[in-house]
Amino acid sequence: MSRHTRAIINLSHIKSNFKTANQWAPDSKNMAIIKANAYGHGLIETAKSLEPLVPAFGVAIFEEAIALRDSGIKKDILVLQGVSSVDDLLQASEKKVWLTIHNPLQLKLVLENPQNNKVTVWLKLDTGMHRLGFDHKDLILALKQLKKCQWVDELIVISSHFSCASEINNEENQHQVEAFNATRLALAENKNIQFSLSNSPAIVSLPNANFDWNRPGIMLYGLPLFDGPHSSDQQLYPAMTFESRIIGLRKVNQGEYVGYGQGWRAERNSKIATVEVGYADGYPRQAKTGTPVLVNGVKAGLVGVVSMDLISIDVTDIPDVSIGDLVELWGEQLCANEVASYADTIGYDLISSVSQRVPRIFLE
Ligand SMILES: *Cc1c(COP(=O)(O)O)cnc(C)c1O
Repeated sequence: MSRHTRAIINLSHIKSNFKTANQWAPDSKNMAIIKANAYGHGLIETAKSLEPLVPAFGVAIFEEAIALRDSGIKKDILVLQGVSSVDDLLQASEKKVWLTIHNPLQLKLVLENPQNNKVTVWLKLDTGMHRLGFDHKDLILALKQLKKCQWVDELIVISSHFSCASEINNEENQHQVEAFNATRLALAENKNIQFSLSNSPAIVSLPNANFDWNRPGIMLYGLPLFDGPHSSDQQLYPAMTFESRIIGLRKVNQGEYVGYGQGWRAERNSKIATVEVGYADGYPRQAKTGTPVLVNGVKAGLVGVVSMDLISIDVTDIPDVSIGDLVELWGEQLCANEVASYADTIGYDLISSVSQRVPRIFLE
């Protein structure tokens, strides 16, 4: 009996979700964001599957872009955090990897190091998130310098990022759109400038933020986009099902404890199943007693503390449970966002944290 903890990745769902993104934002180019191992779904497999459909890919860090090039991906790739060394800059220009410039050091790096191949730059504006990017004034100055630089591509994209896009009624969203538009209008006279603001939830709820490029991530993987239910939920298909199997089953009498630190005490005579998944697989250690899992398609609750390689669940009320039965931790039938709410986190965190030791099984 070999271990049966695995992530089933439905690549056709990722493709269909991408097509849905295109329907929602038909006038923009939608770049597939596949950072963090494609949010846990497998960087290379996801990229190969999407490559015929997408205009470009976005990753967080330079190493991810190189991994894509090394595996034969030819489409344009944007590094959302850019680079900070001369070596990486040289490789990026050779391998046609687009670079974000979000701070003065990155600007200096590009301006002071002549390249044989043109460098494509996305210049980041801070519209209120206060995480990365230049303010309006510094961005205008940076743009002037970049426009004069011979080894920087003529076409420059101005980008920014929402802090609260998943909160549909948060006024900050419109404030950020206004700040972005102020810079956009100030640059209206300039040729060869494009704009990019929206991530997944904004594509759906802020159509006035869909400019030349959007950057959908989470929607490709099919998780609901907003903090509350939304009509878009029905049009996206979860791409990852994280599953495991029961490897132990026992009766626990009322008053007895289960797991590390006597993390759970039986209030009644109970039937407890042990499942071969733990925090070393990316199951969240913060998951509380009662966190839902599906046993043979029926909801059961986690009990006690998540171990490194195991969890315990209460199956007292589920008939016909046996060792070997499948357990869905999240996926097509149990929304990762719901599980996340029991672990003080968000669906993004769960799916992108499924660890390297969990095999990915790809369905086309
Ligand atoms: C991760 C990321 C995205 C994608 O966001 P989603 O909410 O997953 O769609 C877009 N832009 C930037 C800058 C990001 O870091």
